[in-house]
Amino acid sequence: MIELQRGDITKMEVDAIVNAANSSLLGGGGVDGAIHRAGGKAILDECMAIRNRQGGCPTGEAVITTGGNLPARYVIHTVGPVWNGGNKNEESLLASAYQNSLKLATANQIKTIAFPNISTGIYHFPKQKAAEIAVKTVKDFLAASDVVEKVIFVCYDEENFKIYERVI
Ligand code: ADP
Repeated sequence: MIELQRGDITKMEVDAIVNAANSSLLGGGGVDGAIHRAGGKAILDECMAIRNRQGGCPTGEAVITTGGNLPARYVIHTVGPVWNGGNKNEESLLASAYQNSLKLATANQIKTIAFPNISTGIYHFPKQKAAEIAVKTVKDFLAASDVVEKVIFVCYDEENFKIYERVI
């Protein structure tokens, strides 16, 4: 089951929200900054522990932490690709970011999960193409999933919201 909402992902009452993180896991701007501000120090502490263990998170992969002070119990931090013209494997790396987030959700018995529009902000991935990849990857995953039941795409900007309305 797929839903679409306009708004701020930090407010979502779901089992897990996904963060469009960067490889350092140390926080940043955009949705990453918003999640760390709203969720508090517990999230950064766990990110630091993961960094010390495995040296950050490669592009296309995902890690999980507490949701700290957020309504969501967990944050899944995934690193989408920086758009670099389209010949740097960006499309499959974006699909991997969604897939690996959903695999981690499955491993943690997460039933409801909210995604932001990964890579479409500071990382400049074209929004239409990103939405098509996000929706197809999530649909394919849900069709074969017996753990994750609901995926909510949370669009912060109007342009993405309109694109997702059409794509879904
Ligand atoms: P990236 O570096 O992956 O491009 P950004 O955070 O810059 O990450 O942008 C990803 C998307 O997150 C953008 O579409 C942006 O509009 C959106 N965004 C920013 N703040 C929030 C928020 N509080 N909730 C949901 N989405 C957000």
